[in-house]
Amino acid sequence: MNAASAHQVTKIVAGLRHGFEQGITRPESWRRTQLIHLRDLLLERGADFERALQQDLGKSAAEAQVTEIGFVVAEIGHTLSQLRKWMRAKRVDTPLALVPATAKIVPEPLGLALIITPWNYPLMLALSPLVGAIAAGNAVIVKPSELAPATSALLARLLPEALDRRAIAVVEGAVETTTALLSEKFDHIFYTGSGKVGRIVARAAAEHLTPITLELGGKSPAYVDRTVPLADAAKRIVWGKFMNAGQTCVAPDYVLGDADTLAELAPHLTAAIHELYGSATKDNPDYGRIINDANFGRLVSYLADGRIVTGGDYDADARHISPTVLADVDPEAAVMRDEIFGPILPLIAVDSLDAALAFVTARDKPLAAYVFSDDASVRRRWERETSSGALGLGAPVLHLSVTDLPFGGVGASGTGAYHGERSFLTFSHEKAVLTKPLRPDTLAATVMPPYTRAKSRL
Ligand code: NAD
Repeated sequence: MNAASAHQVTKIVAGLRHGFEQGITRPESWRRTQLIHLRDLLLERGADFERALQQDLGKSAAEAQVTEIGFVVAEIGHTLSQLRKWMRAKRVDTPLALVPATAKIVPEPLGLALIITPWNYPLMLALSPLVGAIAAGNAVIVKPSELAPATSALLARLLPEALDRRAIAVVEGAVETTTALLSEKFDHIFYTGSGKVGRIVARAAAEHLTPITLELGGKSPAYVDRTVPLADAAKRIVWGKFMNAGQTCVAPDYVLGDADTLAELAPHLTAAIHELYGSATKDNPDYGRIINDANFGRLVSYLADGRIVTGGDYDADARHISPTVLADVDPEAAVMRDEIFGPILPLIAVDSLDAALAFVTARDKPLAAYVFSDDASVRRRWERETSSGALGLGAPVLHLSVTDLPFGGVGASGTGAYHGERSFLTFSHEKAVLTKPLRPDTLAATVMPPYTRAKSRL
């Protein structure tokens, strides 16, 4: 990794700002060209990106395609098909008292955007926001995660070959470089990662009154009741939980249900783990590994927080932890205080639906909540009585592949959203434009002094 110094950061920022001020990023044609070049890069160099993701996270080629490379390719396709419509000014009604006048909303680029990326989906979480920033006509700096060094280095090498260097740059580095970046003035900062660093970003942005999007994490619950086929629910939970070895921001963090349901669900979870990953996950290329030793140690310490129903094997050299289900977990244990962000799934018994709802609402608002119930009134109660970035009824994770659904958190799980048109709007200013002809002059008769009773009623 080629970490940029503070001096280099200042120079890069000045160069890109100059590019933006020259107006090169504004034309639709420029935006389209960049997006097409980015898509071509992903398609032509897919094998290189797959290798980097394998190196950083032990990610299989298939998972890399579905959750990272193909995901961004699809996002670019959707953006190209909608861009003209999104860029168009939108007429809005004017109040009668202002007639004659017209009013419209004109989206304009914000300027220079900074995208700070985490390691868990190091390609997708760098490029998906980049698509929105380019579509909206911004200059952009992408700061990949230093904890995924192979992907970071590849992005730093390939993006400048494919994209317009006058307006788009990749800056590699760790805390020191990110701190240098954050001391500069940006027009938008888009941060994905932990709430701890999210607070650092928000404080730095406040100095320059820079608007921010914070894509954070949290403990996303999965509630299961007896009305659903438990084997099917178990399979979906296992799929959502153990992809990328549990290092997914929207993975189900824990399962809530009554004790009988959980006792019945547990063997189905074990069976689903075996069906998806076999019994020896260490050598299974479909199953990822833990990003670094610090997270490995943290996760292994959670294994003592409950009774191991299945899994619980680990190997420090390979940074492998087998898919693990924990029962009899104390809700106050560390595994239930922190976001797990790894392949450990606690089962938390509650007495009733009311208790499950109370359990979730008493805690930070999660990035997602998942409900497995065929009872419409149960689903409705989750929709109305809990708050989360998203609600998945019957399936985890999938909501983020629906381009027209805004993706983001609420409260402690984040602020702002993206994907599809929401990405375009996130990186745009919606300028209010009012046009009022000077003739005929109706203002004197309606809003200007001297005031009369009739004017005050307007
Ligand atoms: P991370 O450690 O890679 O950090 C993210 C970024 O912050 C990196 O680019 C890093 O360089 C920078 N950074 C780290 N410490 C910093 C500091 N002191 N000052 C300035 N910059 C700093 O990733 P992470 O934080 O471990 O990511 C995991 C978290 O991200 C989890 O909570 C997860 O739920 C969340 N997440 C959320 C989403 C989402 O879309 N909402 C997606 C993925 C991950």
